[in-house]
Amino acid sequence: MFCLKNNDFYYSKVIDSNLSLKSDISLIKNIGKVNKNKLNELGIFNIKDLINYFPRTYLDYTNRVKIINLKPDNLYTCIATIKRFYIYKSQNNSNLSIMNIVIFDETSSIKVTKFFLGRRFRSYSFFSSQKSLYIPGTKLAISGKVKLSEYGKNFVDPQIEILNNKEESFNFSGKIMPLYSLSDSFSNLSFIKLIKKVIIYSQQYPDLLTQNQLNSLSLLSKKDSLINIHLPPSQKALIESKKRLVFDELFLLQMKFLLRKRKNNDKIKPTHNVQKRFLVQDFLTKIPFKLTKSQKKVLDEIKYDLSDITPMSRLLQGDVGSGKTIIAILSLLIILEKEQQGALMVPTEVLAAQHYKNLLMYLNPLLVSVELLTGNTSQKKRKEIFTNLKNGMVDILVGTHALFEDKVIFNSLGMVVIDEQHRFGVTQRNRLLNKGDNTNLLSMTATPIPRTLALSLYGDLDISQITELPPGRVPITTKIVSEDELDKLFKSVENEINKGKQAYVILPLIEDSEKMNLNSAKNIFKYLSDEIFLKNKIGLLHGKLNSEEKNNIINSFLKNEINILVSTTVIEVGIDVPNASIMIIYNSDRFGLSQLHQLRGRVGRGSHKSFCYLVTSEKSGLENKRLNVLEKSNDGFYIAEKDLEIRGPGQILGYKQSGLPDFVLDNLPKNKVLIEKAREEAQRVITDDPDLRKNPLLKDLLIDNSDNKFIHDFLN
Ligand code: ADP
Ligand code: MG
Repeated sequence: MFCLKNNDFYYSKVIDSNLSLKSDISLIKNIGKVNKNKLNELGIFNIKDLINYFPRTYLDYTNRVKIINLKPDNLYTCIATIKRFYIYKSQNNSNLSIMNIVIFDETSSIKVTKFFLGRRFRSYSFFSSQKSLYIPGTKLAISGKVKLSEYGKNFVDPQIEILNNKEESFNFSGKIMPLYSLSDSFSNLSFIKLIKKVIIYSQQYPDLLTQNQLNSLSLLSKKDSLINIHLPPSQKALIESKKRLVFDELFLLQMKFLLRKRKNNDKIKPTHNVQKRFLVQDFLTKIPFKLTKSQKKVLDEIKYDLSDITPMSRLLQGDVGSGKTIIAILSLLIILEKEQQGALMVPTEVLAAQHYKNLLMYLNPLLVSVELLTGNTSQKKRKEIFTNLKNGMVDILVGTHALFEDKVIFNSLGMVVIDEQHRFGVTQRNRLLNKGDNTNLLSMTATPIPRTLALSLYGDLDISQITELPPGRVPITTKIVSEDELDKLFKSVENEINKGKQAYVILPLIEDSEKMNLNSAKNIFKYLSDEIFLKNKIGLLHGKLNSEEKNNIINSFLKNEINILVSTTVIEVGIDVPNASIMIIYNSDRFGLSQLHQLRGRVGRGSHKSFCYLVTSEKSGLENKRLNVLEKSNDGFYIAEKDLEIRGPGQILGYKQSGLPDFVLDNLPKNKVLIEKAREEAQRVITDDPDLRKNPLLKDLLIDNSDNKFIHDFLN
């Protein structure tokens, strides 16, 4: 069995037979009304809630040393005696009091400083209460970091425990102290006391893994993990406990994914279709290039999926410019050959218009009817589209969020393609899918998601990847530049423009803002037009323009009537202007790496050399280190991994809808192996016990835990 050293914290081992995990906290002995109310405010109502209130972080006091051996910036615990104590009001800050204690042991002495912020800490009564606590000669345990200042070494704001000359009462020497997120009025130590009173009830916590599973997965039992997460006897125990608790989250999530997949498969009814159109072949002969190997492979995967009656659920990942659109079109054509309709949903109007234009160009000759629906489509046009959609006259509907509308009713929706799918939530995607029966789904993303993240976020999707760019692309050269190098840069941009090339200039804001010290599109547009590029035509694009204005500008840029396009990140997704070969991104430190990679993907789409300049005012080491990743690599997957490491997935993707708890999401790179383990185990359980008859607890947890109707449907 997988086991760790016993927990040597003192906690109550007495189980009161009147109490259980479900008992209200007011039944805990001596809890007091005030504490009860404070706990309720934290969302803690019963003992189970209390046990599930995990520490925010920990202080490791296992490192106990003598004063002489203290080194700056490490976490230490010292046992020492008070030599001198004084407390005074800060001269500079009318809210601050400062306490200094000098302590000594047989090796040396050191000053301990603690800051108290708040008016109540400036009162006479507070001062005298502190004075009576820290009487010279009293033994203390000091735990925290030592800082080095001009006056020498100094403990700054450490945890202090008064030992009353009895070292046994020293709670955290040699231990790891949990720190909880609590309101001001509830001290960490009193919370720990409470935990010690009830932690024994962890024993009643049902374990959703059997002893056999625990053994084969090398995981700690649930009850031990719960005890250790609050009162860890060692770092090792803490790590193992976290691992177990995270595993449960991941395992449940993967179970849900796999159940959803089964559920989808269950409701399939066979279709009978005689193929009348041969669109795919026709299309392939019409495009001016050959599919890359990677595109062919993905197309085969999709064809295979679509040859089966089980609906496809596929995520297509491919770096910017890898040619996902063609795959989307081909997939839609396969569906049209089956006499069904398709929908192509994109996050922005600009992109919708571009796709629409491309589809018209390629598909009109094939007699495929394509329509565009966005928030700006006129009432008259709308009516016409709705009618023709219902009677099956429209083959493909391209659009934005407008496609969700209830009035959008298809005759026979066979496939939904979602472009830039990370911009949509799962609920949105399902809303569109529900407009048909057994609708196939192709989700596309150009923010390449590392495999781990993809598995945990989209465990219910199969994954295809385009791993190469179309031939003839010259890698983009990326350079970090400081703001004072810009004049020089503009000169070289002018040279390129004179050679017929075009440039993007990207800004984080539309207009100047008092709150943020950033460059804005309007401002830079004016500056470049009036002072720098006097002979060139400059366009301005941002989200506040109406769709006609946006389309006009994009079209002029496409036709090279505009040489320089100043824009906000509205161009981030999908815009395809192959002749543009220069991009300048202002305040590049404001963007995530993956987003910058996306932006940069707007250039380098033709066969000529392209450049991306990352302008930053913060040429600090750290920022440069981050942006350096882009200078060095053009590989979206590598960049996404780095972004993940540096900023955490929540930041990159903003996926609140992932259903993954923050603590899992934030540690995703670390949890990679665990995610895969959880998936394998879920797969094993479902194969072995498809209706979860042998796993009633798991079944309950899935129902309990889930706001997803499909699981209720499935399990009931
Ligand atoms: P993304 O994957 O970023 O959506 P696109 O689908 O917009 O990329 O494709 C980028 C460009 O590459 C388009 O101009 C497209 O016509 C072109 N393209 C796609 N596939 C190929 C190919 N196999 N060979 C040459 N060019 C291609
Ligand atoms: Mg695209």
